Amino acid sequence: MKELLGGKGAGLAEMTNLKISVPPGFTISTEACVEYYRRGKTYPPGMWEQALLALKRVERSMGMRFGDPASPLLVSVRSGARASMPGMMDTVLNVGLNPRTVEGLAVKTRNERFAQDAYRRFIMMFGSVVMGVGRERFEEILKRKKAELRVLSDTDLDAKALRELVVRLKEAVRKETGQEFPDDPFEQLRMGINAVFSSWYGARAVTYRRLYNIPDSWGTAVNVVAMVFGNMGETSGTGVAFTRDPASGEATFFGECLLNAQGEDVVAGIRTPLPVTALAKTLPRAYKDLVSTYRTLERHYRDMLDLEFTIQEGKLYMLQTRVGKRTGIAAVRIAVDMVKEGVISKQEAVLRVGPEQLSQYLYPIFDAVEEGKRQPIGKGLAAGPGAAAGKIALTPERAVDMHARGARVILVRQETSPDDIHGMHAALGFLTARGGVTSHAAVVARQMGKVCVAGCEVVEVESSTTVRIGSHTFKEGDSLSINGFTGNVYEGEMPVVESEVIQVIQGKMEAKRSQKYRYFSTLLGWADEYRTLKVRANADIPEQAKVARGFGAEGIGLCRTEHMFFAEDRVPIMQRMILARTREDRERYLEQLLPLQKQDFIGLYREMKGFPVTIRLLDPPLHEFLPKREELMVEIARLELTGGEPAMIEEKRRLLLRVEELHEFNPMLGLRGCRLGITMPEITRMQTRAIIEAACEVAREGKQIVPEIMIPLVGMVSEMKAQKDLIREVAEETMRRKGSKLSYLVGTMIELPRAAVTARRIAEEAEFFSFGTNDLTQTTFGFSRDDAAKFVGFYMRRQDSCPQCLSPEVDWKEMICRSCGTVIASKPVNILDADPFEVLDREGVGALMRMAITEGRATRPDIKLGICGEHGGEPSSVEFCHQLGLDYVSCSPYRVPIARLAAAQAALTGAAVPESRGPAGRPNRSAKGRSRRSGSRAHRSRSSRTAR
Ligand code: PEP
Ligand code: MG
Repeated sequence: MKELLGGKGAGLAEMTNLKISVPPGFTISTEACVEYYRRGKTYPPGMWEQALLALKRVERSMGMRFGDPASPLLVSVRSGARASMPGMMDTVLNVGLNPRTVEGLAVKTRNERFAQDAYRRFIMMFGSVVMGVGRERFEEILKRKKAELRVLSDTDLDAKALRELVVRLKEAVRKETGQEFPDDPFEQLRMGINAVFSSWYGARAVTYRRLYNIPDSWGTAVNVVAMVFGNMGETSGTGVAFTRDPASGEATFFGECLLNAQGEDVVAGIRTPLPVTALAKTLPRAYKDLVSTYRTLERHYRDMLDLEFTIQEGKLYMLQTRVGKRTGIAAVRIAVDMVKEGVISKQEAVLRVGPEQLSQYLYPIFDAVEEGKRQPIGKGLAAGPGAAAGKIALTPERAVDMHARGARVILVRQETSPDDIHGMHAALGFLTARGGVTSHAAVVARQMGKVCVAGCEVVEVESSTTVRIGSHTFKEGDSLSINGFTGNVYEGEMPVVESEVIQVIQGKMEAKRSQKYRYFSTLLGWADEYRTLKVRANADIPEQAKVARGFGAEGIGLCRTEHMFFAEDRVPIMQRMILARTREDRERYLEQLLPLQKQDFIGLYREMKGFPVTIRLLDPPLHEFLPKREELMVEIARLELTGGEPAMIEEKRRLLLRVEELHEFNPMLGLRGCRLGITMPEITRMQTRAIIEAACEVAREGKQIVPEIMIPLVGMVSEMKAQKDLIREVAEETMRRKGSKLSYLVGTMIELPRAAVTARRIAEEAEFFSFGTNDLTQTTFGFSRDDAAKFVGFYMRRQDSCPQCLSPEVDWKEMICRSCGTVIASKPVNILDADPFEVLDREGVGALMRMAITEGRATRPDIKLGICGEHGGEPSSVEFCHQLGLDYVSCSPYRVPIARLAAAQAALTGAAVPESRGPAGRPNRSAKGRSRRSGSRAHRSRSSRTAR
């Protein structure tokens, strides 16, 4: 139903079926919008006629007529896409007012002031949204009128003043647009519908869709609904509520209302509202209805809902209901509580939480001791969880700019509006002076996973460069800290510490003291009951392995041994080994590295307590361990100029010579991977000895370890065999020497198309395959993982750029490029919908994986299969791995919970593998909103590849 009617339309229809009090109305479908654009912005045949018929039915049920001065029906015209896009598209209220109907409204309501106020609001809204007059123009006229009459508030304007205001507002429309303000209600309706359709391609809506991967092709529905008024005096009001707390998930009715207010006043955050529970005192009958309605709706939808309502002269009307947006923390708590309340099953609970949402449990918090010492300088509403400390930006543009220059940004605004979306995206957190927990800032924060303190009344943005918070004045760029769990605001940057869940995992807090940890682990425990994929971690050092175990990793799927050599005390030995010209010299240095490497493995084995540990032999090109050529040249020149020691200069020269010898034009396709171990077998020998000796020693402690020795970048079975034979020889000899016998496996990564294509042969030697999808993506696409960002970004944004000059400054409503003036005939399509280094490319890389699995199993039916590229922690890629029938996924420790949940969801939904699903046009549930902790992107430079 949502696909066709949009979220709002579907909610209204459902509430009507449940006999809940909603004002009558009708919905123009999303299909009509799509068709409207297909036909060059003309209505599909019959649409307008059907709308008029539906309007007749609304007239009948209201006992009023559209455009009839005796009993005027007014309607709202609202957008409503399939997915909620709060505030991103247009809405017009009070459609149907004109000089005659406004008089009728005054007579009917016996309230002339109310009628004139509705008319001036209508002109301002219709004039700006539909006719394109700047809202500030109208605000200026309103302000002037108040100044003339020496009144402060809009409510101080009487009917006469409002009548005069209406004339001025209409005049402004005439001046600005060269058109008369339309008086014909049907013309108003038509223009309103067109404006809502057009707002689908408004700049805000387009930005929002890009952020949340909402396809352009969906279109918006238009809801035409009879107006009810929350501004008919003190027995009227309007509000927004959630059936449970959307920030914490606590099962309490939660929301806000404003008495004597209309429409979007609450969401816009212009007046700071009252808690919804205050209605129990002021309007008890309506509140009782509201409570019983929310309970009925929650029972019906079996989920937490958000509600919009209006009370007109004591009578409650529901305007909207939909499944409520919530933080990740709330999502888990609501799902777990609802299982305990018997409302949903455990399976449903597991399916209700987006895997990426779990990362909110890992948000940092302020150090409790430090925070206890500080005095807050302000307190607002805790509207988006987490703790953020950074530099103040007072405009969205400055936030973007400061963020681009590497600053951590707190966006401070009087209130935010949908136009601020780019700045909000760039900021870590938001602080607003006005608005409540359902204000724009709060809703967006929870969705984006940002920290937010809203409605902090001591905040006063004085200019575009200064803000006052209580008695303190701050300039842009000054430091500020905000606590989105408590609403407290502090001067300066306060140190931020790990989340409660992380503290429990690190043993710094008892699990039973952390309610958050209990909810988190309960849901993940349920997820484990359903998943069939195992989840391992990519971990190189014992601390990481410990965190990984804490998050439930069932082994290590990738230990990149080179990372062990980057430690400060090891790099010099490694460098000497690389610089050595003879095997004997190399062996001498490797001998020094052996005990260090062995100790690392012992640490990993101990942490993993018998779970499998896959250790990859040295992989990167050797120059990564050496200083850069240019830096060395500069250093030598400096030493020569400053009379440096000749011996030192000589050593640097030798180093430079070797660096130049090792220089490769394309190191990622050069001397790396198994090619290193084949051309320098002593490296493989040392590493094998360390792996096996460590396992023998830990075995003596009573822990049986089955090391999995993994050979990187194999392309030919002969490479695999050469390394495997060497490993076997050294392993057997080591065990003989140690007087121990243990099992171990030798396998390979599948990182090259040739390996995938010849997997049948490679499996003759390899006992396991682990898909190295970082390199496999690189080599399949021929995209350098270190450089692809330069064009992949554009490949994904092409649909938002002018095809002529590639500028993103395009007016998509008018199809004109603002930069070069080109009239654009048709919207360009994207080359890629998702970054293949982030979301596994099922069509190409996935096809190679499928081939390798089939071929590998043909030779060795029980071959162990896993993935250890970054995709192993990305939900849609995990789903694909489940579908392929892999044994495990391996990802960075902090993504283990995400992978556990994604694996359970894949098992529960059990989707079959579609034949051809490439990156373009493929559903992408999770490319965005990556965990703040997920760390490096897969295609960052190799030296920063340790994911965290
Ligand atoms: C890979 O290529 O997917 C992989 C895990 O190895 P690395 O990222 O270390 O090249
Ligand atoms: Mg690799």
